[in-house]
Order: sequence, then C-alpha cells, then structure tokens
Amino acid sequence: MGDSVDQRWVPLSDGNSIPILGLGTCSLDKPIKGETVKAVKAGIEIGYRHFDGAFMYGNEDEVGEAIRAKIADGTVKREDIFYTSKLWMTYLSPALVRKGLEHTLKSLKLDYIDLYLIHWPMGLKPSEDVLFPEDASGKILQSDVDFCETWAVMESCKDAGLVRSIGVSNFNHKQLEMLLRMPKLKYKPVCNQVECHPYLNQNKLLKYCKSNNIILVAYSPLGSSQDPRWFDPNNPIVLNDPELRKIGEKHNKTAAQIALRYQIQRDIVVIPKSFNLGRMKQNKKIFDFQLSDEEVKAIDGINKNCRYITLKQLIDHPKYPFHDEY
Ligand code: NAP
Repeated sequence: MGDSVDQRWVPLSDGNSIPILGLGTCSLDKPIKGETVKAVKAGIEIGYRHFDGAFMYGNEDEVGEAIRAKIADGTVKREDIFYTSKLWMTYLSPALVRKGLEHTLKSLKLDYIDLYLIHWPMGLKPSEDVLFPEDASGKILQSDVDFCETWAVMESCKDAGLVRSIGVSNFNHKQLEMLLRMPKLKYKPVCNQVECHPYLNQNKLLKYCKSNNIILVAYSPLGSSQDPRWFDPNNPIVLNDPELRKIGEKHNKTAAQIALRYQIQRDIVVIPKSFNLGRMKQNKKIFDFQLSDEEVKAIDGINKNCRYITLKQLIDHPKYPFHDEY
C-alpha cells in the first residue's frame, strides 16, 4: 500500500481496490449546466481517477459524459476509472434497488460502476422521481423498509456484474453490525462512507470499521461546502482552524492539504469536492509530505464531534443514524 507520486490504491475486502483520493461531484449549491462535465474532464486530465457521485446529485449524466469523452480521446481506459454511485432513500425497497442502479447506469451510459452504496440506512416512500416525497402538510413520507433486504438485492447486482463492489453510507456501528450478522450474508460492505474531518474525526467508528475490514470513506473532508441553505453560521469552520494552519505553515501546505493528509495517514479514503482547477490541483498535492505522529495527535486533539450534514428533517425516522454515539 505504498504511495505513488500522486495516488495510493487501498485493497477492499472483496479483492478490488479503491484510490485513496477521489473527487467529490456533489454541487447542489450551484448546479450550473455543463459545470460537472468540465470539472470531471479537468479532473481526469490532472490525474484524478476516482469520482464520487450519486443519483441524488442530479448530474450523473454529466459525469458519464466526461468519463466517456476522456476514454474516447485516449486519455484513460474504463478500467483506470473508479466511479462510486449511491442508491437513494426512495429506492430502498427490494423491488426498486436494481431499477435505481439501472437509472444510474443509463444516465452515465456505462456498463458497470465500480462501487454502489446504500446512500442512507433510512428508507422513504418509494418513488422513482421525487427525492423527498411529502404529504399535503409538507411532512416527508418515510418507509420502514429493512436495509438488510435492500442489501440482499445489492449483492445480486454485484453478481450480475452491474457493479464491482458494494458498500454503505451514513451507517452507524450498530447498523453495520446488523448487516454483518445477516444469516445469509454473501458479501460484506467494503466501505462505510461517512462525514469525517478534523472536527468529526470518527475515531471510534474508524476503529470498528478497521476491525471488520471495512474501509472508511470520508465525505466533507474539508468541512463541507457550507451551503447557506443548511449550514449553521454558528458552526466552526474547519479550514480556519489555527492548528491546521500552523502545521500547514511548517510543511508549506494549506489547511486543506493538512486536513486531507491527516485522513490518508489514517488509511481513510478522501473525496474532497472542488470544481475549481487550482483547488483541484492543490487537493492532489498530499502525497509528497508526511505528518509526524505528534502532528497527527495534535489534529486528533482539535476534534469537536461537530457534524455538519445532519439531515435533521428525518430525525424522527426509526433508522436515523446519528442518535448513537458512533
Ligand atoms: P468538502 O469536500 O469538504 O468541501 C467542498 C467545499 O470546499 C467546496 O465549497 C469547495 O469549493 C471547497 N474547497 C475545495 N477545495 C478547497 C481548498 N483546497 N481550499 C478551500 N476550499 C476548498 O465537502 P462536500 O462537497 O460536502 O463533500 C465532498 C464529497 O463527498 C461530495 O462532493 C460528495 O461526493 C460526497 N458527499 C457524500 C455524502 C453522503 O451522504 N454520502 C454527503 C455529502 C457529501 P470549490 O468547488 O469552489 O473549490
């Protein structure tokens, strides 16, 4: 698992592997047409090979267009690219799982994806077009679908060759345990993708995942996009942290590069989102220096268990994952 100049591939429990650095593609705050195609093409040109997307982000057609264009012009082959997508909450009932994946493949115009995740353990009322189905009073309509049943169909999608690896996102350790204890479990989830950054370092969940050979993938590794529609302005801002800045000055790196390097030294996969060429390049320059054990410890010390992505509108859902400590 040595670092190359600008990447490291991490083995997954099913024999596949994942690049430790990927590019997030969620741009809900300002979805400008053509922006994702441009960013993903630029990402491939500067060496990104791993892209994190989802049906929910509404731009998989553009991600697919960019990947196909860069295959067509000879920059990459399909097997050089690692693409992750996610099954949305309205698709958790077993009858809809494969349909969800097929919608994604159709948007991408690709034959398979590399990794497919259950986006959240919570189900919503089945729907193929509305992301958050509501009743007349505006209340989000939930479903009590059992994610273990969802998982069994995810396994069959892997067997059918539509996806190479399967995993989950936003599961707490008890919910992971429920999957691992499934009597007819065929494949373990290869990863759990969760919010993780220096202010929410997830040390307990990381320990649990490592002991079960589950890779932790860190979303919002820079502290999220701080979309004013949901970001509480009283929240502390990760990249303004004095400790990260101080360590950055020592290594001639930015706070963002220190936050990312911190994760890859803990064997955590990071998927920072940037659609800005300069910042995309900056976020890749994390393989040419090393944090000392003291520096990692100092960053551990700034943890505040501060979660930015809370999905509070579903706090009363029976499978809401964030009531538990980890
Ligand atoms: P993030 O990657 O922590 O932060 C993105 C924000 O930081 C953007 O506003 C970006 O702006 C800015 N940025 C990027 N590089 C920077 C740098 N070097 N210095 C300063 N600012 C920088 O947050 P995120 O988008 O929430 O998370 C990343 C990805 O994780 C998403 O795109 C998505 O793929 C995934 N995700 C998954 C879930 C889930 O439920 N599984 C939830 C949230 C996110 P510019 O674009 O202008 O550079």
